[in-house]
Amino acid sequence: MEDIQGNTMSVEDISSALATYTKCVNFAAIKHRNQRRLDSDKTPYINHPIGVAYILTAEGGVTDFEVIQAAILHDTVEDTDTTLDEIEQNFGLAVRGLVEEVTDDKSLPKAERKRLQIEHASGTTPKAKLVKLADKIYNLRDLQRCKPEGWSDERCREYFAWAKKVCDNLKGTNREMEDILDQIFEQENVI
Ligand code: NDP
Ligand code: ZN
Repeated sequence: MEDIQGNTMSVEDISSALATYTKCVNFAAIKHRNQRRLDSDKTPYINHPIGVAYILTAEGGVTDFEVIQAAILHDTVEDTDTTLDEIEQNFGLAVRGLVEEVTDDKSLPKAERKRLQIEHASGTTPKAKLVKLADKIYNLRDLQRCKPEGWSDERCREYFAWAKKVCDNLKGTNREMEDILDQIFEQENVI
């Protein structure tokens, strides 16, 4: 087997990557164990980060291992008691950096956090942009699949409009995922 640079991977390399990947999924599953998504089925939260990583590999054609790890971990610091130091100790400095880039500052009011996501999107690194694109695809598909309990049509429309503003500032990163987002925004008549 070869890695993305065409270097032959030894059995040891493959085993090591598989062990790290499994550690990552296990870490996120433990951290998110008491959380549910907002949909009416109250889907276990861990389906989301695993699904974001799967969008990256299956639809975005992304094979970068740091990006896949960051996708699995992307909501642990924002939504659980996980610290960035903990991410670094377990998964290294590069993955810590990516998780930090995709983590909102929860001490700020929600409206300000939403505004900053739009403002900061263009300045994030290409690897963090990949995670953000896949995260948006997953969340928008979730909203298309079923409206969260208590959400009005207007709130859903606002969410799509906001997400488009973020995604506009992530352009030029991954053609496949950006095409998927364009299709979603077209379906929802967001211009
Ligand atoms: P939230 O941030 O509260 O919820 C959306 C987030 O929840 C997603 O980004 C996603 O984040 C996560 N999520 C969990 N389950 C689902 C799911 N099934 N489908 C989609 N996302 C899911 O909502 P808003 O973005 O609307 O944030 C609040 C903003 O909305 C504020 O600015 C507030 O002022 C405004 N607001 C508007 C209302 C209205 O009626 N117009 C009412 C109340 C607030 P993740 O990837 O992190 O899991
Ligand atoms: Zn997310």
